[in-house]
Amino acid sequence: MAITAARAVTAGGPASLSRFRGALVAAVLGDCVGGEFEGAQEVPMERVLQHLNSLDDETKGTGILEYSDDTAMARCVAQSLLTRAGFDDQDMARRFAKEYSASPGRGYGTGVIQVLKKLSSPQLSDVYQPARDQFNGRGSFGNGGAMRAAPFALAFPDIADVKRCARLGAKLTHSCSLGYNGAVLQALAVHLSLQGALDLPQQFIGRLITEMEELEADEVARHDARILKEAEKPFCERLYRVRDLMDRSKISVEEVISELGNGIAALHSVPTAIFCVLHCLQPRECLPESYGGVERTIAYSLALGGDTDTIACMAGAIAGAHYGISAIPQTWIKCCEGAEDADMSAERLHMLYHQSSQGGTSGTGEQSCEDGSEMKSNTSNGATSKNSCRNSVNLVSRPGQSL
Ligand SMILES: [Mg+2]
Repeated sequence: MAITAARAVTAGGPASLSRFRGALVAAVLGDCVGGEFEGAQEVPMERVLQHLNSLDDETKGTGILEYSDDTAMARCVAQSLLTRAGFDDQDMARRFAKEYSASPGRGYGTGVIQVLKKLSSPQLSDVYQPARDQFNGRGSFGNGGAMRAAPFALAFPDIADVKRCARLGAKLTHSCSLGYNGAVLQALAVHLSLQGALDLPQQFIGRLITEMEELEADEVARHDARILKEAEKPFCERLYRVRDLMDRSKISVEEVISELGNGIAALHSVPTAIFCVLHCLQPRECLPESYGGVERTIAYSLALGGDTDTIACMAGAIAGAHYGISAIPQTWIKCCEGAEDADMSAERLHMLYHQSSQGGTSGTGEQSCEDGSEMKSNTSNGATSKNSCRNSVNLVSRPGQSL
């Protein structure tokens, strides 16, 4: 292996602190370093390496690379999960809206800006409605839900909670199944990676295919795929392509882009990010021998061009969960805005995750309302009142806990 001695520290066992820290920090790094090439259709590897080498120049100081909407929204997800000790859609929606109004210049797409503005309205009773209204009621299939999905995998030890909350968290802005299923896929990939599943890459991709087969059997998903003229189970079809490509020792960047895509649709970027991680499990000729797995994955993601910040952010989260924090160069961390904050959030999420897996109440929705529509509930006086649907999953209900 080409990993240098200094970085050949193991990530630790399943769900170790190092893996949690690696996941959130590498996601921020991918976003920050990826901004340089966002939208470029051709990115020669020499340019990528030049850019990454410049991070080692300590004379440039700290925080020179700013994070974009990917990290801004992932921070909201993490902070909401921590503050509420679980998923609370109202709280998360409020945080998205507040973050956007405090710092609107983070590169948000025009579609999501409309949703975020509506989410800031105090009159809003259903936090899922603005996203449902997008694109003449069809909703967005962009990768905005997937780009911020990693913290769900770090908050919930139970895979059913990861899937449910990643879907609902994405639906706050992306109501098309090709948008929110991309977020579920990304959260699942991080979840499995945290467990050490990338030690057996074939089983890793096989498990993702099995999970998505089940998710995409859903009638809504099938309907959306038909309307958008995609394969019957679009994410499964892409994951089968990933599985074919990962078996090939040599593959050109052009082939990867043509088979998997590098665009802003979740379908054209989440499987691509997963491929980047799998492809870079081994040293690659085009990449420096001194690079460890996280560096390889991020560099390779950038060289694909297109939506580089988001693809590198998602690939970074999956790779970071596999290799752990010690695989990430300190110089990179120092250059990226928000990386140290992400590290602290990861520590707190690690605590939350392990508290809930050791006896907290997991997976208990206070109310269950899958589509976020209004629901009726009985009040204590026997009358029926109409409440706005509030999805929440509480992980830990211990008095006096400090998160
Ligand atoms: Mg971005």
